[in-house]
Amino acid sequence: MTVSVASGQSSFAPNQFAAGMPGAGLGRLYNFCAGPSMLPEEVLRQAQDEVWNVRNSGIGIMELSHRGKLFDEILHETEATARKVGNIPANFKVLFLTGGATSQNFQVPANVLPDHGVAAFLTTGYWSERTWEEIGVYTDRAYEAFSGKKEGYKHCPTDSEIRYADKPVYVHMCTNNTLYGTQWRNADGSIRTPRIPDGSFLVADMCSDIFSRPVDWNEFGIVYAGAQKNVGIAGISVVVVREDLLKPVRKLPRMLDYSVLARDESRHNTPPVFPIYMCNLVFNWILKQGGTAELLKRNSEKAQIVYDVLDQSKFYKAHARADSRSLMNLTFHTPSAKLDDLFCEEAFKAGMDQIKGHRNTGGMRASMYNAFPREGAVALAQFMREFEKKHG
Ligand SMILES: *Cc1c(COP(=O)(O)O)cnc(C)c1O
Repeated sequence: MTVSVASGQSSFAPNQFAAGMPGAGLGRLYNFCAGPSMLPEEVLRQAQDEVWNVRNSGIGIMELSHRGKLFDEILHETEATARKVGNIPANFKVLFLTGGATSQNFQVPANVLPDHGVAAFLTTGYWSERTWEEIGVYTDRAYEAFSGKKEGYKHCPTDSEIRYADKPVYVHMCTNNTLYGTQWRNADGSIRTPRIPDGSFLVADMCSDIFSRPVDWNEFGIVYAGAQKNVGIAGISVVVVREDLLKPVRKLPRMLDYSVLARDESRHNTPPVFPIYMCNLVFNWILKQGGTAELLKRNSEKAQIVYDVLDQSKFYKAHARADSRSLMNLTFHTPSAKLDDLFCEEAFKAGMDQIKGHRNTGGMRASMYNAFPREGAVALAQFMREFEKKHG
């Protein structure tokens, strides 16, 4: 079997991996990419088989009719396993939509925000800033109830830092800020949500931490996430909508209308069959691991392994404030941009790829989502200590 290693940094012969290296003999690196990101090995293996022949149907998953019986079965299973993994109540619809999380920047207001309606934004990072910037297409009465921009997005606010003005239809938040490495969380990693005005509902971008920890869905009206970080591959978003919000506030094209997409089980047109199938495999994998409570435990442990190094070091500086640091994306830098580059270069030679920070933040970003193995966190921590010894 030949396996090639994809990397933006330089060409790398897979057989350079020594015994004991990540993916020894498999030609695979620890992939710290912020998204798309690592998938569980057993999921990739099963998908590999079923690209050829899915469930002994004699047809490959990418060739399967989206109207046939077998896809009915797979789609219904995917929704059922999503509900089981998330513990999503019956009064929410689970939709699988195209256009990525970014399309929810217009699909949410299109469905639920009337002309001149008020919406409030908690701007805690790059993605929530994009959402805030775009709301002007739908209303002239949106406002930021919090913005962390001036402090460089180092934390997620407490209730006393949030200022509501006119009562909003909804409040938008991003539960995990992928670029800056901050997360709305309590000390034990569990999700923390802001106070919102009575009668408003919460809309959450959960792209980079959906199904990484338990969530009480009753606190939300709409939750969305592109699948490519924690639950699958690019091409599909999981969108969870409370049933009473399935009444569009204006006339909409059908492909934009949540109620049409819910009625037609996310296949008003040809849905991305393969990405939906991949979600199903990952959801089943999560259930096999023990569900989101177990994943929170593992994700906390993985993150702590690396945060311990940061806490004990004068060489590395963390970007995020300690009370808000993310269990998914860990951001830090060395004393200079030059050393940051060298860090990434040498990390790559040690089998760790895609660790360079976003251009907005510089430094490093280690993304360790659900499927990222604990050994990868251990390897990074060890590498960081050695790098500090050499260059500190
Ligand atoms: C990745 C990401 C997005 C963008 O997702 P797309 O599916 O590429 O549109 C939005 N929000 C957050 C928090 C993200 O991490």
